[in-house]
Amino acid sequence: MRPLHIFFDMDYTILGMDGSLRPGVQEVFQRLRQDGHTIHIWSGMGVRWGEVRSNGLANLVAGVYEKPLQDYRLAVQRMVERGEIPRFPDLVVDDYPEIVSALGGIVVRPYFWPNPNDREMERVYQIICDLSTNGHSPDQAFRRPAT
Ligand SMILES: [Mg+2]
Repeated sequence: MRPLHIFFDMDYTILGMDGSLRPGVQEVFQRLRQDGHTIHIWSGMGVRWGEVRSNGLANLVAGVYEKPLQDYRLAVQRMVERGEIPRFPDLVVDDYPEIVSALGGIVVRPYFWPNPNDREMERVYQIICDLSTNGHSPDQAFRRPAT
């Protein structure tokens, strides 16, 4: 199993419009950590430690950063060089397909309104398990990075 550095988006990926946490986020983060992966959180709206803490995620993540909004590969490379993020992501998880296509990762269905029946985080976990063991996932939500 290959340990992965996984970067999660915030709005509509792990948080709804009202700021509530998507079902399964804490549990899946815990399982990913137990599996040896490292979780990072970033947002196009800035460094949001406050919401990460208030949702009980602070001790599950390695860091919280600002996410680039365009020219993703170049922007991320520059952020790594400046020390703004610790490394290039192995995988991004985001509701916005463009950043996932550029960097590689998982496109999630946007989470707008509180929905206790939402199971998208389970799907994310399954894809990550497949990737870390096989290097591939049959799920159409998986995108290889553009090169
Ligand atoms: Mg988003």
